[in-house]
Amino acid sequence: MQNLLDCSLPELEALVVSLGEPKFRAAQLFQWLWQRGAAELSAMTNLSKAFRARLAEAAGIVQPVVAEVRTSSDGTAKFLLSMADGAAVETVLIPEGDHYTQCLSTQAGCPMGCTFCATGGLGFERNLTQSEIAGQVLVTRAWLAEKGDPVALRNIVFMGMGEPLLNTENLYKTLTTMGLDLGLSFATRRLTVSTSGIPGEMIRFGRSGLGLLAVSLHAPTQELREQIMPRAARLLPLAQLIEELKGYPLKPRERLTMEYLLLDGVNDSPALARELVRLLSPLKAKVNLIAYNASEAATYRAPSMERVLAFQKVLRDKNLTATLRKSKGADIRAACGQLAAEGRRQAVTRDR
Ligand code: SF4
Repeated sequence: MQNLLDCSLPELEALVVSLGEPKFRAAQLFQWLWQRGAAELSAMTNLSKAFRARLAEAAGIVQPVVAEVRTSSDGTAKFLLSMADGAAVETVLIPEGDHYTQCLSTQAGCPMGCTFCATGGLGFERNLTQSEIAGQVLVTRAWLAEKGDPVALRNIVFMGMGEPLLNTENLYKTLTTMGLDLGLSFATRRLTVSTSGIPGEMIRFGRSGLGLLAVSLHAPTQELREQIMPRAARLLPLAQLIEELKGYPLKPRERLTMEYLLLDGVNDSPALARELVRLLSPLKAKVNLIAYNASEAATYRAPSMERVLAFQKVLRDKNLTATLRKSKGADIRAACGQLAAEGRRQAVTRDR
């Protein structure tokens, strides 16, 4: 049966017309699904009973199901969601001043295998669909409403499980749906897609105009990048990555965001900071520094604040904008994939 949450607006229009209704009925349906978060057709009271009955024979509404929520002392809330086929996916709500930013997953597992990431250790399961990606917002919005939390969900980052630019068909469809005023109504500047760098796909995404791009760099040399994120580094070597980004279409005041996760004693020396300045000099870019947060099973150590600030100072002294993002939710394992990995470990233990 067709999941209505997997339909684009034009697909909904085609569906309602095929059921003998005027095309504008799709806009009403779309509003119910995305603006009001209706989980049942019976809730859609401005649609006739006869139409709802015909619709129910052709389609239904399937949202992700919350399997577990963990809230952190800093206000971060991490959700483990279960999809219709049992795939376990995470999403995180991060409080930032007067609003929340939500981190969405685009794949169950991930094929990229970055060495610092728990999702990378899970391997790749499958791509997520629109209902499963944008559905993460429906679920957390309902959770906030139930708690009576008035804080707005303002920004979306596609930075959870998976490499978004390896799931472009669903990603582009989802971004289009999430941007429509009839639905979730997120402005393009509120939607940031984070990639480890897929050849050709970054430029294509830039041309789509569907959101902002952040690139996970994490190392200023090819050798070090191969050590930290081996698959991404081999798929698109650093020199080629920079070459591609030179052609990225930016609006006049826009800059590319380069994510740099600081790992103690690995990529956080002042010499590497200088190397990073040199590497990024041909680009209009800013750097988002993230201090690694070690979990008990971690391969890496967290850098001291002293080292983090020293790294940041080198960039700033060379007029490279470098913001420092605290890795939040350490006490609930907010780092990508840790909750799903834990769930899988428990399942394996149970099976044994
Ligand atoms: S960091 Fe992102 S791209 Fe790398 S393994 Fe984790 S989810 Fe995949």
